[in-house]
Formats: sequence, structure tokens, C-alpha cells
Amino acid sequence: MNIIVETFIKPNIESESKKFIAPHFPGGVLTSADLRKIADVCEKFPENKLKINGDLTIGGITNPKRNDECRQSLGLPTYSVAGFSIRPVKVCAGGYMCDNNLQDSFSLGLKLDKMFSGKPVPFKLIISVSGCPRGCSEPLVKDIGIISARNGYSVHVGGAAGGKPRIAQKIAEKLNEEQVMALVEKIVTFYELRGKTMERLGVLIDRVGMENFKATIVSGS
Ligand code: SF4
Repeated sequence: MNIIVETFIKPNIESESKKFIAPHFPGGVLTSADLRKIADVCEKFPENKLKINGDLTIGGITNPKRNDECRQSLGLPTYSVAGFSIRPVKVCAGGYMCDNNLQDSFSLGLKLDKMFSGKPVPFKLIISVSGCPRGCSEPLVKDIGIISARNGYSVHVGGAAGGKPRIAQKIAEKLNEEQVMALVEKIVTFYELRGKTMERLGVLIDRVGMENFKATIVSGS
């Protein structure tokens, strides 16, 4: 199975990801100047289509050379929409536009994004931060979900949406910002070292056992 994954499935996913241009806006925040750049590039490459699914994606150019030219013309940082890296961190609007946040979760999300976004890993890994238990950034269906409470942050692991949805399990609570950053780093390192190609974090945790995972991650934190 791993030969099939490495030989056929992984290259297909990697080439698929090149078809789409996904600007990276840390914290999901963009300016009028960013919007102008997107409008300009879409006018210059009129076969482009724009799509928002929470993230904004530019796609529809079938010629790879023209797609590269479009990416360069855009002049914004981009990320891979498919494949083998940590995605831009999902951060709710708490502390930016919404005042229900119970911690400075927006700053934490930006720090996590700066530290981890784009890092190569065995498959995709999504980190989400929410400013209160309403969970607008959907932390319980992400690989690592961080939720603010009055007494600190809780950290949840192993969630996923899509075809095989999973609810993340809580592994720590009452953490401050530094403790969250340290814990996420340990989880990412564990995933880097122990994950198999195309294995999501939750599947890896099932394979090694939650107690083993926590013994490695939480006990040392
Ligand atoms: S999760 Fe809470 S703080 Fe964040 S946007 Fe939703 S209501 Fe606001």
C-alpha cells in the first residue's frame, strides 16, 4: 500500500495542489489592497475563477505555465491547498471583530500561524483557535483544536471533517499561551516523526493508542 501511495497517490495530490492558487492571509485577515491585487490578477487572467470556502482560492487556469505566471502576478504569499504541510491556522474573529473572546486567542493564532504554517508533515494538518466555547473556527473537527476558557486554553487532538469526520479529544486544559505553543510543538514533532505518509494525526493516535500518545506528549510538557 505504501508503494502505491508514494508512487501514484502522493504525486497526484501534489500536482493537483499546483492547479490552485491559495493566498495566505494570516489569521484570515485581508486588506483592501489585497483585494485589489486579487481583482487585478483575475482581470489579467480572465479564465480564473474565485471561490470562498472559508479560504479564498483562485483556480480554473488549465495551462500550467500560465498558472505560474498568474501566481507570480498576484504578488501575495500562497500555500498548498492539498498535500503534505500544515495549513494556515484557522483563527476565529474573537479579539479582532468579535468581543466574546475569553483570551487573547487572535494573537495566539497569529503566533501559531507564523511558527507552523507551511511546515512539511506526513499529510495535512490543520490547527484551529477559537476565542470561546462557541468554536466558530470549528476546533473540534481539526487535527489540533485550541479553545479559550476563562481559566486558560484547552487543547484537543485528532479531529477531522470531510469524508471520515472525527471529533477531537481533549488532552490538556487551563494552559497559558506559552504552554499551548510548547504543547503544539510537541504534537507536531510527534506527527513528523511517527506519522506515515497520508496518515492524519487522529489515525496516528488510534494506531499508537491515546495513552501512549499522551504519555509522550503531555507528561513531558
Ligand atoms: S468562537 Fe467565540 S470569540 Fe470566536 S468568533 Fe465565535 S463567538 Fe466570537
